[in-house]
Amino acid sequence: MICENISISKDGILEFAGVEVTQLAEKYGTPLYLLDEERIRNNCRIYKEVFKKYFGEDSYPLFASKALSFKGIYRIMEEEGMGIDVVSIGEMYTALKAGYDLSKAYFHSNNKTDDDIAYAMDNKIGCFVADNVEEIKVIEREAEKRGIIQKVMLRITPGIDPHTYKEVATGKVDSKFGSAIETNQAHEITHYTIKQPHCDLIGFHCHVGSQVFGENIFERAAFRMIDFIAELKRELNFDCKVLDLGGGFGVKYTEDDPDMNLDEKIADVAEACQKACKRYNVKMPAIHMEPGRSLVADAGMTLYTVGTVKQIPGFKNYVSVDGGMADNPRYAFYRSAYTCYIANKMFEEADMKADLVGRCCESGDIIQPDIMVPSSVGRYDIAAVCTTGAYNYSMASNYNKLGIPPIVMLNRGKDKLAVRRESLEDLISRDI
Ligand SMILES: *Cc1c(COP(=O)(O)O)cnc(C)c1O
Repeated sequence: MICENISISKDGILEFAGVEVTQLAEKYGTPLYLLDEERIRNNCRIYKEVFKKYFGEDSYPLFASKALSFKGIYRIMEEEGMGIDVVSIGEMYTALKAGYDLSKAYFHSNNKTDDDIAYAMDNKIGCFVADNVEEIKVIEREAEKRGIIQKVMLRITPGIDPHTYKEVATGKVDSKFGSAIETNQAHEITHYTIKQPHCDLIGFHCHVGSQVFGENIFERAAFRMIDFIAELKRELNFDCKVLDLGGGFGVKYTEDDPDMNLDEKIADVAEACQKACKRYNVKMPAIHMEPGRSLVADAGMTLYTVGTVKQIPGFKNYVSVDGGMADNPRYAFYRSAYTCYIANKMFEEADMKADLVGRCCESGDIIQPDIMVPSSVGRYDIAAVCTTGAYNYSMASNYNKLGIPPIVMLNRGKDKLAVRRESLEDLISRDI
């Protein structure tokens, strides 16, 4: 199976985290997001362990919480001793309400409003990752007002093409994010920030893209960033304490994706950092990375109930389910690949090609085209889409006035509701 937490019971039913998913569909209804809590905790522990092993005590991973944001996930991150990054007041508020200590949080985004900045400071955010000079000006003003020295990092564009899909490539010179080394704007913003009396510049950040595999992207980014850090040391005698290499490690959505060995991958990045520090003669900074997808994607699965099955002889077949682009817009956005099953027919041969589509009034409402399903597929069957833990719930919308599905956490064979289903009353609760 695509991930170790997926199996098939002796009755031919798909199991997730050891539980037959048809029982969960029955108990909670569909569409339904499932999360394997043990898998998330385990992914956190692996990251923490390999960081300690290869980068040392001061280095740690931060969970990029835009990948999956609800109270329960911040509780897990608090319990696992993970840092987080946040991108909005909404994420900060959710984390705070879950009891997460924001002093371990880093605030990203390419356009922080004045309100964002004030809210973050009022709630003792650990560090701002400033994107541009306008933000530095407001951070300086707000820090001065409060009589504090605010930790900041700067987002730098190292000029690296991660060869992933263009919607998630963020490290090239023409990106909307950060300041480019190539155009000297990275130097200019550093010079400016260092002069601000209420900003404590601790280091630099870059994030080159998402769903990245191979090609030494992180190693190349590390070299470019450490070269930049060395220039600043020579120019300004500036000591960089922290280098954040961003997120982006790919996950296995289908059998065509490579396996990701985190231990080897981080070991390679660490080696590149050490080599670069030696070559450019700078002290090794603490290293941060911000995995989002690779911490939670394979801990997720979405269940749907099949409704209409439409065969158009000589053309194509459609299997329609009771969710779609409202709970999973990733195929519509990025043409993302997924592995899908008919969960109650795992022993039947998948001999019919069909598009798994949603119920929204858009032809583009496709969860996955050209999947193989048993030709007996029909109404009331349960369809499962694997690896939906990242950027599914967090990107869900109410398009077509569909309620957002609930999240059920699975742990050691037990199931527990973590986010309840959005009700009809919820759907109009803000309408006046
Ligand atoms: C989205 C994002 C991440 C997480 O990326 P993943 O591909 O989910 O690991 C990390 N850092 C920043 C700044 C991001 O924008």
